[in-house]
Amino acid sequence: MINQGNAFIHFDITHLDFIKFVLTFLVPFGVSVYSSVIIRLKIVVGKRARINAKVKCVSCGDISIDVKEDELIEKCPKCGEKTKYKIIEIK
Ligand SMILES: [Zn+2]
Repeated sequence: MINQGNAFIHFDITHLDFIKFVLTFLVPFGVSVYSSVIIRLKIVVGKRARINAKVKCVSCGDISIDVKEDELIEKCPKCGEKTKYKIIEIK
């Protein structure tokens, strides 16, 4: 009975260490993947698009345009400098 108890406690600690290890590894990894995806998907006026996508201007909410990979992203015809795009569809 005592031996079994020890084994159980031992198992628990090992298990916790394993979870900590996985979290220590996965959290920074997940954050870096997340930020690289966000940077990749960012649609900035005057910069080149990194993806083919349909984007919508969130400043007016009216205009949506198609951007193509490597093409310069143009301003919304309504909003000009205030243009802010949001990706609505990735192609
Ligand atoms: Zn607009």
